[in-house]
Amino acid sequence: MAREPIPTVWVMGDQLDRAGGALAGRQPGECRVLLVESDARINSKRWHRQRLHLVLSAMAHFADELRGDGFDVDHRRAPTLAQGLRDHVRELGAGPVVATEPMSWDAREMLDRLGVELVRTDRFLCHFDEFAGWAAGRRQLRMEDFYRWQRLRLGVLMETGPSGPEPVGGQWNFDHDNREPPPRDGRSWPPITRFELDDVDRAVLDRLPAATHGADPDGTWPVTRAQALIRLGEFVDHGLSPFGPHEDAMLAGEWKLAHSVLSSSLNLGLLHPREVVAAAEEAYRAGTAPLSSVEGFVRQVIGWREYVWGVYWLWMPGYRRRNALGAARPVPPAFTGAAGTEMNCVAHAVGHVREHGYAHHIERLMVLGNLALTAGVDPQAMNKWMWASFVDGAEWVMLPNVIGMALYADGGMMATKPYASGGAYIDRMSDLCRACRFDPKRRVGADACPFTTLYWDFLARNADALGHNHRMARQLAGMRALKDLPAVRDRAGEVLARLEAGDL
Ligand code: SF4
Repeated sequence: MAREPIPTVWVMGDQLDRAGGALAGRQPGECRVLLVESDARINSKRWHRQRLHLVLSAMAHFADELRGDGFDVDHRRAPTLAQGLRDHVRELGAGPVVATEPMSWDAREMLDRLGVELVRTDRFLCHFDEFAGWAAGRRQLRMEDFYRWQRLRLGVLMETGPSGPEPVGGQWNFDHDNREPPPRDGRSWPPITRFELDDVDRAVLDRLPAATHGADPDGTWPVTRAQALIRLGEFVDHGLSPFGPHEDAMLAGEWKLAHSVLSSSLNLGLLHPREVVAAAEEAYRAGTAPLSSVEGFVRQVIGWREYVWGVYWLWMPGYRRRNALGAARPVPPAFTGAAGTEMNCVAHAVGHVREHGYAHHIERLMVLGNLALTAGVDPQAMNKWMWASFVDGAEWVMLPNVIGMALYADGGMMATKPYASGGAYIDRMSDLCRACRFDPKRRVGADACPFTTLYWDFLARNADALGHNHRMARQLAGMRALKDLPAVRDRAGEVLARLEAGDL
């Protein structure tokens, strides 16, 4: 009797989780494991070198680890993912092919087309089906409501009160204790391990395509689960306590402050959000980290991150084409590295992206995103640049963050109003304006801060589109009351032209 062909478990480059999804419970000898590096994917964008290296190296390390455990692993390169599967089946036989539900809409369509059997993903604490159930019937999908629902149903930072479960510390949100302006005492920030590049890392580095950008990998980003666990331990021991008060601060001399820099490990599957949240909660219960910081971090992981994942699946595929404000300018050359800039905050944020493939959330939202919003940068172009340039980039991450949160291109499906601001916010939350040649308080003249000028011009340009939003009424009234509005708009025209020319 002919032997049943063994199944193939197809693992994507962002599903490197030995214990989850289609790999859960599998033993060597029961299945083959397939990993495909796709030329089409590699050539689809001008990737940051650290981002592309991270994914390819993590895949190669994962394949080696599975082989070490006794699995039969087919790690191959192919023109496309689909061709990789066809080549695998042709060369090794045609058993059933199974995969975990993938992380992108297009991958889902491809796997459906190829007839791959899908196993429900357990990479998030809230599956997108559960999120759709939570969202059903709600007029506005408020992140805060989702976060509290998550806390309650997952029992994270909850305790039993007289009338049932209630948040630890008596409140859901400790924002008023967090988000302080940056400390100006020159303190040192939590150190992180730089992992030594091994032979696998160096082999991947040698074959990175020339059409990439950014600094070479220096071991900052974990490529194995073991490295990711070291990074998690370092954060819990040294970064978690100072995280909360300084989560929104920006400093010229420090790129990550007390941020966890765990997002790339979570997004590749090297860490699971369950263990990350459990480690943070344990630190609170052991008395080694304050509740305000732990709550702020937990909010990022089970609130914001899972909310972004949920809305991505809820609103795709139409969401990726949204452009409510009709924004059409290209990504500024100052962002892409094609030109320098005298805007100190932009120069630092872009420098962090160049050196690390990373900028923390306030640099993303209030510097890069804010300038793109107020300048009217095409949301699809901005999304593509950020997806390719950040080590933790993925379509599910970037679309809601860029289209919804930063650029208001969804017209308010996600954020209740645009996150536009002038230079005053950056001045309050950073030490960058003091060393800048522009003045955050000025909106006209050669030394006017481009953020401040463009903020007022953005309101004037989009007054009709934003007029129905009562949360914008005060800002629009403020814009209409400006006596120098014509001069501001003249200066804005000059700023936009110079920004596009890479001369600002
Ligand atoms: Fe940025 Fe304006 Fe401050 Fe300069 S003055 S650092 S451009 S916000």
